[in-house]
Amino acid sequence: MDFQQVREESARRVFELYPPDRQGRGFICPICGNGSGNTGDGVTFVRDSYRVHCFKCGFSGDLIALKARENNCTYKDAARVLAVLLNIGDDYDKKFVDKKLLAEGNFKLRADSQASNNLPQVFSPPKTAEPELDYMQFFNDAEKNLQFTDYHLKRGLSWETAHHFKLGFIKNWRHPKIQNAPESPRLIIPTSRHSYLARDVRQNLNESAKKYSKQKVGAARIFNTRALNSDLVFIVEGEFDAMSFYEIGFNAVALGSISNYKKFIELVLNKKPSTNNFLPTIFILALDNDKGGRSATRILKPILENFGFYNIIARDIYGNFKDANDALVDNREKFSAAVRSNAESARESFVEKYFTNFNISD
Ligand SMILES: [Zn+2]
Repeated sequence: MDFQQVREESARRVFELYPPDRQGRGFICPICGNGSGNTGDGVTFVRDSYRVHCFKCGFSGDLIALKARENNCTYKDAARVLAVLLNIGDDYDKKFVDKKLLAEGNFKLRADSQASNNLPQVFSPPKTAEPELDYMQFFNDAEKNLQFTDYHLKRGLSWETAHHFKLGFIKNWRHPKIQNAPESPRLIIPTSRHSYLARDVRQNLNESAKKYSKQKVGAARIFNTRALNSDLVFIVEGEFDAMSFYEIGFNAVALGSISNYKKFIELVLNKKPSTNNFLPTIFILALDNDKGGRSATRILKPILENFGFYNIIARDIYGNFKDANDALVDNREKFSAAVRSNAESARESFVEKYFTNFNISD
């Protein structure tokens, strides 16, 4: 996490963090709420700087300082939170923020989704936004080298699954944004045309290599969003977990990280059909079998319900294992049976809920 980068990115993308104010000149103050009333003009940027100022509560400082005040935490912790929200953080930042977000449980969904389509320009960034890079050619090249690794096989994924997700292999991979980073052999997992995950395939990584074993390139994306077109979708955490479901014939989307759940909600809201003539998708929450996974489930379930998405929590799906991939690697048959039984009971309870007063013979 780089303070200056966080400072610049948060200023440039301030409306991903705070809703615009009613006057369209700034954003709503997270401390005093200034800007939400008809007369309020919110927090505005001090000209040609990254500093903001609220005329009501008097706050003055950059957006990291504002986040620190809002969360009552240190400047450094606030920078980590922002780095993750803006997807420019490293694994350490993500772990920290997952913990923090879940401990506080304060998930705020933007109330005015209309406003976000029509954002006022209150801040002219000193630097122009970087265009997203197209990695399609890179993915094609990497896919040709997949034969030089068996990492996916070790994780229980067949060649067919690997090709379905367009996995690839790069022998001497180095993060394109980090100069002088050491090279390492990586499994390439595309998460969109503009983003991917690079997984170090070496065994017995030392502590410093472990820290960088999973690196993301490009903006964070929900993995395998095409699964949302099916009638029954498992919601999981990791990319390998979603691929594990595909391996046994089911569909799953992966959040990538628990802290992406806001992105996921926004995605399914946009996917929701505008008429009521469609049967809703059945979601099965199957996050990691640990404290973080359970907390995220408690947060996600009521949100999905509030927006009218039928969902249930998976039961005994991973046995004593942490996630889908561990369960698959341990015992494919057992994992497959547990998933099938969860899918069947979800379908049954769905029919019960929606069709109990509906007599087919009529
Ligand atoms: Zn204020």
